[in-house]
Amino acid sequence: MSVIYDRVALIGLGLIAGSMAHAMRDGGLAGEIVGYARSAETRDIAREIGLCDRVEDSAAAAVRDADLVVLAVPVGAMGDVAAEIAPHLKPGATITDVGSVKQSVIDAVDPHLPAGVHFIPGHPLAGTEHSGPRSGFATLFRNRWWLLTPLPDSDPDAVARLSDLVRAMGAKTDNMEAGHHDLVLAVTSHAPHLIAYTMVGVADHLRRVTDEEVIQYSAAGFRDFTRIAASDPTMWRDVFLHNREATLDILGRFTEELFVLQRAIRMGDGQQLFDYFSRTRAIRRGII
Ligand code: NAD
Repeated sequence: MSVIYDRVALIGLGLIAGSMAHAMRDGGLAGEIVGYARSAETRDIAREIGLCDRVEDSAAAAVRDADLVVLAVPVGAMGDVAAEIAPHLKPGATITDVGSVKQSVIDAVDPHLPAGVHFIPGHPLAGTEHSGPRSGFATLFRNRWWLLTPLPDSDPDAVARLSDLVRAMGAKTDNMEAGHHDLVLAVTSHAPHLIAYTMVGVADHLRRVTDEEVIQYSAAGFRDFTRIAASDPTMWRDVFLHNREATLDILGRFTEELFVLQRAIRMGDGQQLFDYFSRTRAIRRGII
């Protein structure tokens, strides 16, 4: 494949940026990959494992002359990073982010950016429970969706070029309005994560069942919950604080449904349980 951006700056060197670095390098998609992370330890590890062509000690130095800047830091840090790099961006550069929430990132980042740079927010729907500079791998995005949420005045050529990069890294891409993205992700990712966190929390304080029993006898469902509940606490704290309204909406609906089923169990209403499970089974069969 051929080079899509001459110089790419990755700000934040964790799972997502690291996976981008591997995928871009494998595909020959960037002329040069420059990295920066806030922690000196992360920068040292990135240098040691050769994650990027160059790791800089400041965000300003990393974005200098970059054609594409990727903000791959926790959602709550996006605004501060944007303010720091804004004066150093190359005119005509594209800036994107990979945050799991879109509207609050747009609100935090866009006001800092100078005219003449193209801000195209994005979100790869791919991840693992691992984090940090050693956790990335080239195939993370393969056959996964990478949603872009361009602003109404985003330059179509800049959007098309970023879409080319995303596809060249193996992902499928689509454009979506930011607010709608946040509602969809509240249903498909954010609320399920919260439920996983609470299920694992329940197992932890239920003292009549030992930790050993939980691990030894956990069936696939609970094992999946523990994997999800092992996800990075900083990232997920920020997701819930920044997708507050949509997550609360979905959790409100979830607790209503839970009470319906709880009552059906208490009343021995097998028909209601059967009908409910039949409906959800039909939804699953419609998806795959
Ligand atoms: P990570 O914890 O693996 O990496 C985050 C990196 O950001 C680290 O290198 C950290 O040192 C750096 N960092 C933190 N604050 C910083 C700051 N103020 N300035 C510069 N660097 C800073 O996280 P990740 O999983 O790569 O997540 C990064 C972004 O991608 C988040 O916004 C997250 O919402 C999003 N995302 C994550 C997943 C996932 O499953 N992990 C999936 C899709 C999107």
